[in-house]
Amino acid sequence: MQGSFTFQRVIDLTRPIVPGQGARPFRITRGRTEELTIHDPVPHPWYVMHRVETISHIGTHLEAPYHCVEQGRDLGSLTAEELVGEAVILDLRSIPPDSVVGAAEMARVAEGAGGVRPGDIAFLLTGYADRVGTAAYEHRPSLTGEAMGYLITRGVKLVGTDLSGLEGPLTPGHLACHLPLLLNDIPFLENLANLEQLTRSRVFVCALPIPVVGLDSFPARVVAFEP
Ligand SMILES: [Zn+2]
Repeated sequence: MQGSFTFQRVIDLTRPIVPGQGARPFRITRGRTEELTIHDPVPHPWYVMHRVETISHIGTHLEAPYHCVEQGRDLGSLTAEELVGEAVILDLRSIPPDSVVGAAEMARVAEGAGGVRPGDIAFLLTGYADRVGTAAYEHRPSLTGEAMGYLITRGVKLVGTDLSGLEGPLTPGHLACHLPLLLNDIPFLENLANLEQLTRSRVFVCALPIPVVGLDSFPARVVAFEP
């Protein structure tokens, strides 16, 4: 391996979106290009486009401060620079069922990963992502505002989880994790996939939603690079 930009593995951390499935369907409608846009008919049997209708929180998605903070930055205001960089993988899988995860537990997990550094992206691996719909899922770890406070104090710029929400069943406060992050102008990702396939506690990550002006959240393709 030579040079500073080489890598051995690319791991896709994105959950595919299947149109029409789930409680928040992502809908697509296909039409010929001249039916959906102002366009002269093209003499080719298959020349199509789609209309897309979706809720903004679907699949692997990035939530901007504007989601919970009226004056917060929207997706169009986030720079690419703050959505790429070194990520530390915080492995919560040894945390017992029904745990309420505070600052001390988060610090312990962070130490196990070699520490959280200023400017890091922090990804939380709970291991419960594939247990959605099972009884075990109800015993997933419940993160708290104090756990987020630990990450904020360490200087993270972006947080991510493999679950559909940061807060768990025992988290005190519906937005206990959302608010500390978003009020501190730190976006976060939900529904990350394949974190358990990473072989290192530090990887390079790109987490890039389309920068739509005025939007609070949107799906992103999130990719990790391992040296
Ligand atoms: Zn969401």
